[in-house]
Amino acid sequence: MPVLVMKFGGTSVANLDRIRRAAKRVGVEVAKGYDVIVIVSAMSGKTNELVGWVNETSPLYDAREYDAVVSSGENVTAGLMALTLQEMDVPARSWQGWQVPVRTTDAHASARIEEIPTDNITAKFGEGMRVAVVAGFQGIGPDGRITTLGRGGSDTTAVAFAAAFDAERCDIYTDVDGVYTTDPRITDKARKLDRIAFEEMLELASMGAKVLQTRSVELAMRYKVKLRVLSSFEEQSDSAGTLVCDEEDIMESNIVAGVAHSRDEAKMTLLSVADRPGIAATIFAALSDAGVNVDMIVQNISEEGRTDMTFSCPTEQVTRADNAMAAAKDKGVLNFGELVADKNVAKVSVVGIGMRSHTGVAAKMFQVLSAEGINIKVITTSEIKISVLIDRKYMELAVQALHDAFELDKVA
Ligand code: ADP
Ligand code: ASP
Ligand code: MG
Repeated sequence: MPVLVMKFGGTSVANLDRIRRAAKRVGVEVAKGYDVIVIVSAMSGKTNELVGWVNETSPLYDAREYDAVVSSGENVTAGLMALTLQEMDVPARSWQGWQVPVRTTDAHASARIEEIPTDNITAKFGEGMRVAVVAGFQGIGPDGRITTLGRGGSDTTAVAFAAAFDAERCDIYTDVDGVYTTDPRITDKARKLDRIAFEEMLELASMGAKVLQTRSVELAMRYKVKLRVLSSFEEQSDSAGTLVCDEEDIMESNIVAGVAHSRDEAKMTLLSVADRPGIAATIFAALSDAGVNVDMIVQNISEEGRTDMTFSCPTEQVTRADNAMAAAKDKGVLNFGELVADKNVAKVSVVGIGMRSHTGVAAKMFQVLSAEGINIKVITTSEIKISVLIDRKYMELAVQALHDAFELDKVA
């Protein structure tokens, strides 16, 4: 029988009523003749609570124990979803990541899926089971320890299962009815897109649009998974939601597809670093070893052999970055004056494949921000994206102004 993957995010399994409602959706697909793999997140707020407990217990925690704790929310919802389906007379059972086993790298808290053997679950489908409920976000590392896939990782579990089982489609059920031109929580002018190209979705996700985890989009693109985002709160038709697809399958599109934002950014500046070959390698190797995810990087013009180096990273990693730089200084491999952290910044990005062939998007973006009196601290670009770092207090205003200026509420 054809396989369908259905993923339910935190708000879609937030309580027993919501789990029942999600299970009914699953029942509809089972009745159509699909063998269904359901991927569940933890109940909304649960993972944050678990992360909070870890941080309170041990600020510079052992990532293996972090994973042991934060993966547990999904175990609860997987079991409850299987029980709910059984109550509806749908043959179902749950799997935790290690039972499948979802094999991952050993990069705790941000592991990558390497392999999903299908024999175990396929055999159960052969015996008449109709739904395999799998705890999202988690796997097992080469050393046999539990791993997690980074925040929002259940999306990636879902797409990886869809690829491994050659599923007909991977449906991501969430609390919005699709992918919008920007986060609908920031402006009610945000417009739902019927389709979005993989590459645009990839940039929007990696620039902060958390509706899909970035890695899930990468996998869908690589393995040609038919990926759909839709609401778990509305009655569904087969054409509901947003289809993430190849660029060629989109008839019309705006030059700019969407605006993304990321609130939890910090801007770090190393003052007075020696400007010599190898200095960037030393700094960024030390940050990478410490598990700091650096995004934007700017090096100032140097004066008298010294320069300032600025980079951005998630706010929660500022302590790690501070410690890594102090340790490098103590060891004598790095010499700098001071490390200045600005935790009150946000990143706003405009994304669109139309930028490949149209000029002027950057100029317009900067004009719009300037007209609102918003100062730009750092700029980075790619072929289809322009990002700026600004004061966090202007983030919403910047998103709204850019959404208006690029007329994203209208179809091209
Ligand atoms: P889930 O718990 O179902 O995984 P998430 O909270 O991770 O849900 O992702 C859904 C949220 O993503 C929405 O509630 C919305 O606020 C946010 N979001 C950000 N950017 C976008 C966008 N461009 N389109 C739709 N939703 C977006
Ligand atoms: N529960 C995890 C998180 O909140 C994974 C997910 O929801 O996708 O990040
Ligand atoms: Mg999510």
